[in-house]
Amino acid sequence: MQSDMKFYSTSKSSSPVSFKEAVVSSLPKDGGLYFPTSIPTFPSSFLREISSMKLWEIGFQIMRPYCEGDIPSDTLQSILEDTFCFDIPLNNVHDQIHSLELFHGPTFAFKDVGARFLARCLAYFQKDENQEVTILVATSGDTGGAVATGFHNIPGVRVVVLYPTGKVSDLQERQMTTLGGNITALEVSGDFDDCQRMVKEAFLDRSINDKIKLSSANSINIARWLPQSIYYFVPFQQPEMLGRKIAVCVPSGNYGNITAGLLAKKSGLPIHRFIAASNANDIVPRYLKSGSYEPKPTVATISNAMDVSLPSNYVRLQELCGEEYQNIIKEVSGGAMHDAENKETMKHVYQQHDYLMDPHSAIGYGILSEEVQQDEIGVYLSTAHYCKFKDVVESAIGESITIPSFADTLFEKEKKSFAIGNSLEELKDFLLHR
Ligand SMILES: *Cc1c(COP(=O)(O)O)cnc(C)c1O
Repeated sequence: MQSDMKFYSTSKSSSPVSFKEAVVSSLPKDGGLYFPTSIPTFPSSFLREISSMKLWEIGFQIMRPYCEGDIPSDTLQSILEDTFCFDIPLNNVHDQIHSLELFHGPTFAFKDVGARFLARCLAYFQKDENQEVTILVATSGDTGGAVATGFHNIPGVRVVVLYPTGKVSDLQERQMTTLGGNITALEVSGDFDDCQRMVKEAFLDRSINDKIKLSSANSINIARWLPQSIYYFVPFQQPEMLGRKIAVCVPSGNYGNITAGLLAKKSGLPIHRFIAASNANDIVPRYLKSGSYEPKPTVATISNAMDVSLPSNYVRLQELCGEEYQNIIKEVSGGAMHDAENKETMKHVYQQHDYLMDPHSAIGYGILSEEVQQDEIGVYLSTAHYCKFKDVVESAIGESITIPSFADTLFEKEKKSFAIGNSLEELKDFLLHR
C-alpha cells in the first residue's frame, strides 16, 4: 500500500511521519501535536448518500485517506464496526434545539469513540510484536473508564489506570475497577495531579522502560482525535437539514471534540458555525469575545471533565483556522456558564421538557440556547449520560433519579483495585513485579 498522507508536528521542527508512527508514538518529540499534511475532501454527492449509511460506513469514507498506508481496508472496516457498536441519535429537545447524544457507548461518554478506535488501531499494529505493551493512564474520571473499556480483552495490551481515591464518581470508579482481565486499576492516595505526575515520571524512568514497553492513550493521539469528526455528519443524515444553517455547540475542555468538528467542516461538511462552551474555566471563550488572552489558574466545577484552563488542542484550532484572531472568530464563537446557572439549566430543561442532562451537556444546551439565531438550527453535543453524575444532577433537580438498568449491572460486579501511595517507587514496584 502506498499513501501520500503524512502527519506533521504543529511545532514543525521534526519530519512528518506515517499514520502508524503518529499513533504508536502519540506525540512528536518536539512538543507539538500531530496534524495531517492534507485534509481530504469528499465529493458533494456524498452528503446525499449518507442518509441511508451506517455510521461506520460514513466513518470509513472519512478515515480511509488518513489510514490507508498502514491499515488495509477490510481491517479498517472491522475497526470502525467495532468502534461504533452503539447508536448516536439526534434528539429534538424542543423548537430548533437538538441534542446529538454521544453517550450511548459502553462508558456513557463521547470519549468511547476515540478510545475504541485507538485501542483497535494499536491492537492491529501490535499483533506482530512479541512484547506486551503497557498503557499507562492517569484519570480524573472520564478518560480512565473509556480507555480501560476500549482496551478490555485486546490481546498484547495491558492497561494500568491511576485514579485519585475518593475523587471520582461511583459509576466512574465501577467502570475502571470491575473489568478485570488485562485492566488493572490503581487507587492512588493523592489527587489527579499526583496521578499525572507519577505517569510522567514512569515514562522517564530508565529502570522501568528497560523492562517493559510503555505507551499512552493520550487524548491528543490522532487515533483518538480524527474519528471524532465522524459523528458531526449525523445531523446531515436528515435530508431536511441540508440547506439549513446549522450552528453546533460543543462543551469543551481540551478542545479535541470541537477541533474534530472543524476538521469535518474543512473536509466539506456544511456546518454554518461552531460555538465553544466552557464552564468557569473560560479563558478561550473570553478570548473569542474580546481578543485578549488572559490566562488564569484552573478552578474546580461540577463539570469537571471540562476543568482545563489551557486546552492542549488549541494548536490544532490554529492549524485549522489560522493564528489570526479575525480568522478564528469567523469559525468559532464562545460562551461560558458557571455552576449555579448550570444547575438552573438542568432543572429547567428537566421540568419543562422532561429531558435529563449531565452537567457537561447542560453547558452545551445553555450556551446554544443563548446564542442560536432565529434562522438557524441548533445542535449541541451531549458528551455524557446524566447517570455518570448522579449526585450533581439530583442536587440540581431536587429529586432522586434511578440509574438506568444498563448501568445498574456495573454495581453487581466485584470492585477490584490496588491501593498505592503517590510515589513513583510504588508505581514502579507494581509495574515491575505484579
Ligand atoms: C472530555 C469531556 C469533555 C471535553 O472534551 P474536549 O474534547 O476535551 O474538549 C466534555 N464533556 C465530557 C463529559 C467529557 O468527558
